[in-house]
Amino acid sequence: MKITDIRFGMLRVPLKTPFKTALRTVDTVEDIVVMVHTDSGRIGYGEAPATAVITGDTHGSIVDAIRHYIAPRLIGQDIGDLNRLTRLVQTSMEKNTSAKAAVEIAIYDLWGQLYDAPLYKLLGGGDPAITTDITISVDYIDKMVADSVAAVERGFESLKIKVGKDIGVDIERVRAIYAAVEGRALLRLDANQGWTAKQAVYALQTLEEAGIKLELIEQPVKARDLDGMRYVTERVHTPVMADESVFGPLEVAELIRLRAADIINIKLMKTGGISNAIRIADLAAMHGIECMIGCMLETSISVAAAVHLAVARADVITKVDLDGPSLCQFNPVVGGVIFNESEISVTDAPGLGIREIRGLEEIKD
Ligand code: MG
Repeated sequence: MKITDIRFGMLRVPLKTPFKTALRTVDTVEDIVVMVHTDSGRIGYGEAPATAVITGDTHGSIVDAIRHYIAPRLIGQDIGDLNRLTRLVQTSMEKNTSAKAAVEIAIYDLWGQLYDAPLYKLLGGGDPAITTDITISVDYIDKMVADSVAAVERGFESLKIKVGKDIGVDIERVRAIYAAVEGRALLRLDANQGWTAKQAVYALQTLEEAGIKLELIEQPVKARDLDGMRYVTERVHTPVMADESVFGPLEVAELIRLRAADIINIKLMKTGGISNAIRIADLAAMHGIECMIGCMLETSISVAAAVHLAVARADVITKVDLDGPSLCQFNPVVGGVIFNESEISVTDAPGLGIREIRGLEEIKD
């Protein structure tokens, strides 16, 4: 099965409610879909969002990186040479992790199709059912409490609460949500770099002293501030998770060396795809560190790839934050991973099992 062409589409899906973090507000998923064609007639699908404030990738940069730097290396290559292909993708250029991820996802999809097996089985197998949390956007306190209660009533048992705006209000946000859902849902806080190290310690110690139990605090300080991450990790009981601070395996190795966080958030758009995500999971497992698998604002193409990985590495990927599809007003993808609110299950369809993508707009040369 040889690669013959790589084509692009734009997929737009409105969100149920605007997605608001300390960094941005978004109301529609707009993602580049990558279609890797082969001489067998099989097509592999990948996807990448523009997340300029986190990865630096834009729609234009994703298409340009693939069209001019990645695709020329892949045309004519054999899908059976998976490790060679992922190396070609990763060494095609610096950074551009979302573009690399979209292509790798499509290649792994084809690799599964080549052997007529679902991707998670080729990655080592596992129980094909996982449970995700859901994001509660940062907003007025009453709105966040109402959104949290509604999510619990939809069956979500873990809530990812976005904070990182005003430290005093953030503490009140968490107090109010905790009181409203206590005993019914675990709370994960994501500050999206919005606090200083001292503010984070103050907020978490205040919450801890009030008897509020949090499952974790994610990325309290600026991405580059590893010293700040370590400062917080050393001073609070709540486990600290690194998200924007770590992209690839080398950064994870450094984070582990510094003991700057307790948990790693793996996202395919940061790692550049599945090959490096596997390396991170293995590295973390060697050091006894747990991982979360997360996503950007993605639909069930790239999130399906994350699901397959999470199933196959469930021993170390113990937390799942793959709520992209459940934030969307509809699922544009007919395929092998079934997203039903908090419950995600995988069928035995080959590769990622994607049969159809509805409403895809072609991007011409
Ligand atoms: Mg995060």
